[in-house]
Amino acid sequence: MSSSSPMYVVIVGCGRLGRYLAERFSRSRHRVMVIDSNAEAFGRLAASYSGFRLEGDASELAVLLEAKLGDADLAIVATSEQNTNLLVAQIAKKLMGVPRVVARVSEPERAAVYRELGIDTLCAVSMLGDEILAEFLPPVGDD
Ligand code: AMP
Repeated sequence: MSSSSPMYVVIVGCGRLGRYLAERFSRSRHRVMVIDSNAEAFGRLAASYSGFRLEGDASELAVLLEAKLGDADLAIVATSEQNTNLLVAQIAKKLMGVPRVVARVSEPERAAVYRELGIDTLCAVSMLGDEILAEFLPPVGDD
């Protein structure tokens, strides 16, 4: 995915992770739609954020249709609700044909289930754990 061609990026959940990603994609001149069920979440977006905001429960199909999820080049599903994330990621991938779907999972064990469904995952626990191991635990047999 080249940074020169703008993508339509739908980010579900405008919490700590969603907000960070929405601001970064927006700053890189991609078209961004961020969805959250709590309108107060949008108040924490940087003033420089130039994308769209949609208040609604992402587990409702009408909300995803209103967000034009089916037009997305990339969907990042990052609410705090794992089951909602799995549901929305599946709708994006299977029903709406979004080419790239990434979902936040909090339990590393669930990543395998998502992978079987063709959904990439973001797992803070695994990512942070791998960073720490890379720093302090040298690879075995590396002598
Ligand atoms: P955080 O844990 O800080 O990344 O925040 C998660 C965000 O997900 C919060 O802003 C919640 O309001 C949002 N959220 C949780 N469930 C839903 C849902 N069903 N639809 C849309 N946003 C949600």
